[in-house]
Formats: sequence, C-alpha cells, structure tokens
Amino acid sequence: MFKAILIDKDDSGYHARQTDLDDDRLPAGDVTVKVGWSTLNYKDGLAITGKSPVVRSFPMVPGIDLAGVVESSEHADWKPGDRVVLNGWGVGEVHWGGLAGKARLKGDWLVPLASPFTLRQAAAIGTAGYTAMLCVLALERHGVTPDKSEVLVTGAAGGVGSVAVAVLAKLGYRVVALTGRPEEADYLTRLGAAEIMDRAPFAEPGKPLAKERWAGAVDVVGGQTLANICAQMKYRGTVAACGLAGGMSLPATVAPFILRGVTLAGVDSVMCPRPDRLEAWQRLGRDLDPALLDELTTEIGFDEVIPTAARILEGKVRGRVVVPVNPELG
Ligand code: NDP
Repeated sequence: MFKAILIDKDDSGYHARQTDLDDDRLPAGDVTVKVGWSTLNYKDGLAITGKSPVVRSFPMVPGIDLAGVVESSEHADWKPGDRVVLNGWGVGEVHWGGLAGKARLKGDWLVPLASPFTLRQAAAIGTAGYTAMLCVLALERHGVTPDKSEVLVTGAAGGVGSVAVAVLAKLGYRVVALTGRPEEADYLTRLGAAEIMDRAPFAEPGKPLAKERWAGAVDVVGGQTLANICAQMKYRGTVAACGLAGGMSLPATVAPFILRGVTLAGVDSVMCPRPDRLEAWQRLGRDLDPALLDELTTEIGFDEVIPTAARILEGKVRGRVVVPVNPELG
C-alpha cells in the first residue's frame, strides 16, 4: 500500500481526497518509481480543485512532477536505484502522477537526476523551475544577452517567476520583478531582482506601442499584461511566454512585431522534447544557486496538499512548494 491524493468525478461532483492504494492499482508503464518528493504547481492547483479541466481521465492521481528512485524497470535505460525526475508528459492529467508514494511511468519520460541536486531540490525545481529555464534558453536563443538592457519577470513571487529571477540575476542580467505582492520585495531582492514593480498598471489597457524598455521578458501572466509587455519591448526584444495566471486572452496589436521586430517565443514544458529537457536540467545545475533554491522553497505535509492547491490559485503561495512522500530517499 502507498499513500496518494486521488481525484474522482461522479454524479455527486468533483472530489480530491487523500487515500491509500494497492500496488496493483498502478497504471501501465515500464518503470516503477518510489516517489521521494513531489510538489505543487499552479496546474496541480487547477487539477485538485477542478477549477479548469486539467484532469482528463478519472480516477486520477494528480502531480505533474516527481523526483524519486527507480524500484523496478523493464526499460533498457533504467535500473533499480537510479535517481530520476519526471516533469509533464500529461502525468497528473491523463496518467497517474507524482502525488503518491509510487508511480508507474514510461521510461522514455524520465530524466536522470544528476548532481548537484538532491531529490528534494529536484522536486523544488519541478515543472515551474524547469519551465523558467526553458524561458531563459528561449531568450538566449533570440540573442537577449545581459549587456542588452533589462529583462522583466512577471509573477515574480510565484514558482516560475522566482526561479527565473534567480537564474537571470546569476547570469548577469538586470532583472526587474513584476509582482502584486510588495511585501515580497525583500525576498525578490535576495533572489537577485534589481528593481521591483507593481503589476497593477500592467493589467490596464495600454497603447499598441509604448516607450521601449525591455530587452527580454519572462511572462507567466498572459492577458493584458502580456499585451502591454509586448508594447514596451525594445527593438528586436524577445518575450518568453509560458503562463496564463492573469488570463488566457491576448488583447494585443501586431505593432510591436512588425514595427520593432519583437519576438513572442512560446514555451511549453509538457511535451518539450527530451534534448531540450536535458539541456534545461543541465543548465539548472550550473545556473541556479542551490542556496537560493532553498530560500525559495517551502515544505508542506502530504495532508496539506489539498488546502494548498486552492491557495496557489489565489496567488498566495510564494516560490516553490515541496511535498515529502518518502523523504528518507534523499
Ligand atoms: P504560481 O502560482 O506559483 O505563480 C503565479 C504568479 O503569478 C503568482 O504568484 C502571482 O505572482 C502572479 N499572478 C497570479 N494571479 C495573477 C493575476 N490575476 N494577474 C497577474 N499576476 C498574477 O504559478 P507557477 O509559477 O507554477 O505558474 C505560473 C503560470 O505559468 C501558470 O499560469 C502556469 O499554468 C504556467 N505554467 C506553464 C508552463 C508551460 O509549460 N507553459 C509550465 C509551468 C507553469 P505575484 O504575486 O508576484 O504577482
């Protein structure tokens, strides 16, 4: 038996509960992983609360991330004892996920956990941190270098935002953190933000083209905020857009793209090809200060997962959240 969060949907409604499951209920897969640490992302909040139709098969164990140790394997790349990370691939949406003592998965989905990270730190990075690194890689690929003026990070006190601030600052960029939580200014400064800005004006309708300020931006908010950021980009600047915390719409004009050569680079972590994942994890090992990772991580108990799912959707969770499942694994 192992503990798990289980989501059901039936005539009486949508329910998430903590329960114990037998190994024989695990889904099909060629690798069984004992989960050391799991985590809670914005998408897990949507899945557990049912606020958006993230879960597409019931019953479902949520958890789009896990870090653990291979227990058994029929896949050529993996053997018992290997330390692995899993992010995305529809896990926690259509295939049972990481908020459980065990997971059975496709070996092709797994990434080896190389030093310097512990399982706890890998879970702390999770989808949010690995997506932040995909955004940084997107900026680099479009020629946004630290000498090219400032970069803006939105949702800065959240998971993706916190890691993006820490990584970009370590790489030498002047990072401006956009937040709705001025009380987190000291935290964001410790992560490396050079300046903190209030997110409220960005949510108001703006001009198609505004004063040029940003060489690059990492945006988790979408909606009017993303439209305003596009309008403020410097000539040939790049926005890496990965989120919708402020809305799904994009009320923008083409002006920044056709008059200033701005690039809107979409970032997806779920189906991201394996070479890009390996590159992102390798770069996180180099460019994310483990001390700052610990600073941006909060640990909650397994029994706090369900209430915390609602809090993350309210924007009340700072940085990253880790959940010990079998913490003795490291
Ligand atoms: P978090 O909840 O940790 O952070 C989101 C942050 O966005 C909040 O902390 C808050 O930051 C800000 N925010 C929340 N609501 C609003 C609002 N209404 N208007 C403006 N800002 C708001 O989530 P994550 O960092 O895990 O994820 C962020 C977004 O990125 C989500 O939309 C998520 O779905 C998406 N995402 C996409 C991925 C992909 O593959 N494309 C992968 C990972 C995440 P503050 O308080 O500082 O303002």
